[in-house]
Amino acid sequence: MKRGGEDIVVVGAGMVGAATAALLARAAPECNVVVLDAEPPPRWHAQDEPGLRVSALSEASRRVLESCGAWDEIAAARISPYRSMRVWDGEVPAGGPGAIRFDAADVAQPVLGHIVENELVRLALRNALQRLPNVRLLDGARLASLALDGEQAELGLEDGRRLRSRLVVGADGAGSASRALAGLEVHGHDYEQRAVVCNLRCQLPHGETAWQRFLPEGPIAFLPLADGRVSIVWSTSPERAAQLLELDDERFRAAVAEAGDGCLGEVLEAGPRAAFPLRMRHAPVYTRARYALVGDAAHTVHPLAGQGVNLGLLDAAALAQVVGAGLAAGRDPGDPALLRRYERWRKPENLLSMRAFDGINRLFSNDNPALGALRRAGLTMVDRLAPLKGVFIRRAMGLEGDLPAAARGGLAEA
Ligand SMILES: Cc1cc2nc3c(=O)[nH]c(=O)nc-3n(C[C@H](O)[C@H](O)[C@H](O)COP(=O)(O)OP(=O)(O)OC[C@H]3O[C@@H](n4cnc5c(N)ncnc54)[C@H](O)[C@@H]3O)c2cc1C
Repeated sequence: MKRGGEDIVVVGAGMVGAATAALLARAAPECNVVVLDAEPPPRWHAQDEPGLRVSALSEASRRVLESCGAWDEIAAARISPYRSMRVWDGEVPAGGPGAIRFDAADVAQPVLGHIVENELVRLALRNALQRLPNVRLLDGARLASLALDGEQAELGLEDGRRLRSRLVVGADGAGSASRALAGLEVHGHDYEQRAVVCNLRCQLPHGETAWQRFLPEGPIAFLPLADGRVSIVWSTSPERAAQLLELDDERFRAAVAEAGDGCLGEVLEAGPRAAFPLRMRHAPVYTRARYALVGDAAHTVHPLAGQGVNLGLLDAAALAQVVGAGLAAGRDPGDPALLRRYERWRKPENLLSMRAFDGINRLFSNDNPALGALRRAGLTMVDRLAPLKGVFIRRAMGLEGDLPAAARGGLAEA
């Protein structure tokens, strides 16, 4: 079976690439897997302040990370469960009509999900990869060239090193170089919004609740952190985001408290701030011979639903399941027909989510009075109809849909 070179090379050791490598290495222990990343290894220390980049991970993602062998380390280090979510339209109070409350208890679950620092997830995945005998990690290794037409793919790194592989996984994020080198397109549009992120200490306890208020320029979310603070993701116009980054500490804290309608009282302390451009992107084709896209390299979504990495981890689990089953049946892991099975599985699921988040952003991020009435009526209706609410909650938790085995709590099987 071996012809020299690698069996699988994963380009990008972000959360999705590292998870893909771990699941592939576990699904096919006879294969050697190389994971390369342009950047140095992740850095995370329990004594450090919580990082600025955090993710709301669904129950499905928790299970995928468990299947990777990474969850126990993450859970033991620093995570915050959230058991409730409050979502409301800017013009109404958090508890009245036009507001919605989701509780884990509504679907008989202990939690809705967990807020986790991205660097901690990457570090735990990296440690899990280092425990797998068939995985090799290359740090500071930037992909510069890729040739896919042949018995093996040929990868060239910026430092001159060369690799050959039967399958290349493009997990190199939104600006994926491997995707461009593979000749795959990406379509999308700019949301004309920036997400301002910052960790805050507030007057009132967060109560393990995630809060999101929709304002005409975009939503502001308050996500609970393990040390009692909250992480905000405030999507707003580029001009407003630039102003928010420039405000002095006192004015910034007042602006955040006002934007959240005082849901957590006054903002007592604010840490460093950063802003990220928001774009919707989707690759119309995910695969070709010897190549498959996963995670942000295949799709980027608005952070309002906190689902970007959750979708990416489902890609990781689905690809590992399909390739693992193919290898067990004696197939070449770079076989385009095999890889298309993965694409046919994940593309419709991702498209469904992307369209839903896009629609929610359009419906909520405006000050049209007619749409305002419509969305408040919609939120009130969902809040009052328990079965409909249950469907929303289960979908957001990743408990609905065509899930890979690793997201259902099992390892990918042939
Ligand atoms: C403000 C904000 C809040 C968010 N909140 C949430 C949330 O609550 N929940 C959620 O699910 N999602 C959230 N997301 C989305 C989530 O952060 C992304 O979906 C996720 O980080 C994508 O992971 P990835 O591994 O696909 O890509 P990336 O994290 O971009 O990783 C790509 C990796 O590839 C490497 N790389 C790039 N180019 C090369 C190259 N040429 N050669 C080698 N390596 C290369 C990079 O160094 C990097 O390590 C949020 C996003 C934003 C902007």
